[in-house]
Amino acid sequence: MPHRTTIRELLDRNRQWAESQTEEDPTYFARHAQGQTPPFLYIGCSDSRVPPTDIVGAGPGDLFVTRNIANLVKPDDVGMRSVLEYGVHVLKVEHVIVCGHTECGGVMASLAEDPLPGFLGAWLHGPRQLAERAHEELAKLEGKAKVDRMVELNVEAQVRTLAQLDCMKRAWDSGRQLHIHGWVYGLSGGHVRDLLTLTAENQTVVAAAE
Ligand SMILES: [Zn+2]
Repeated sequence: MPHRTTIRELLDRNRQWAESQTEEDPTYFARHAQGQTPPFLYIGCSDSRVPPTDIVGAGPGDLFVTRNIANLVKPDDVGMRSVLEYGVHVLKVEHVIVCGHTECGGVMASLAEDPLPGFLGAWLHGPRQLAERAHEELAKLEGKAKVDRMVELNVEAQVRTLAQLDCMKRAWDSGRQLHIHGWVYGLSGGHVRDLLTLTAENQTVVAAAE
């Protein structure tokens, strides 16, 4: 097992980081204190192995981020809807990225025979339904290939759900250039795969995942 970082180590690293940032660029904190204009809104999985800024070499100010188990976009999730509203209409991001990842525990749970109990089961209800709808295709696959395919289907479903939300439609109707991207991050090699992109021009109305 890898070393489990302690809380003391986190705080020490924070001090080191703050000092090295100031050393490299004395205006760094003053600049960021003035506000944010991130070009990207990133919707990812809570998994600790997929740190959004690290995997794309982004810096502070680049990504407006929300994360949850299995990177789901649920129309009735007030937290998600607030992030979308603020990111798209106040910060005016140009790209919304839904990033899933291989070996996703949430996605694996949605493929298991029995649903997880409690809140986790309730949260993963959507992916479980999606897996049922894709049963024919998934039944031909096994192990990692099955999980990886389900990860793709899940990302695509979230992108399609996003495209149907009023928040996106308003942006597109007003002529804004707003792209929705579906990505899958590979845990084994660290590469991001670009699955699909929806724009005002190519968005297609399909049944939402939820
Ligand atoms: Zn995950």
